[in-house]
Amino acid sequence: MEKVSRWRQRISQLRRIRGLLENPLRKPKAMRVGSVVRQYMFCGKPSCVCHRDAQKKHGPYYYLSSKEEGKSRYKYLGRATSPEVERAQIPS
Ligand SMILES: [Zn+2]
Repeated sequence: MEKVSRWRQRISQLRRIRGLLENPLRKPKAMRVGSVVRQYMFCGKPSCVCHRDAQKKHGPYYYLSSKEEGKSRYKYLGRATSPEVERAQIPS
């Protein structure tokens, strides 16, 4: 009996995933999965200037933030490589 309920769980999980994948196709406006977050970070080196001066933190680094089942998730997008990339990645 335990196996059956586990399979049922798995099936409903797959249905949910399929729903998530299909939704953006049906509604083009739902394509936007999250918003881009810009972040400046401290590094692991205690001697680095970033620990003494908050203005000298490293970055910017970009993350895509989205909500999945009520939880915030962050996907690392990468570091800005040029002003163009930066402009393109900041949501206006
Ligand atoms: Zn540093």
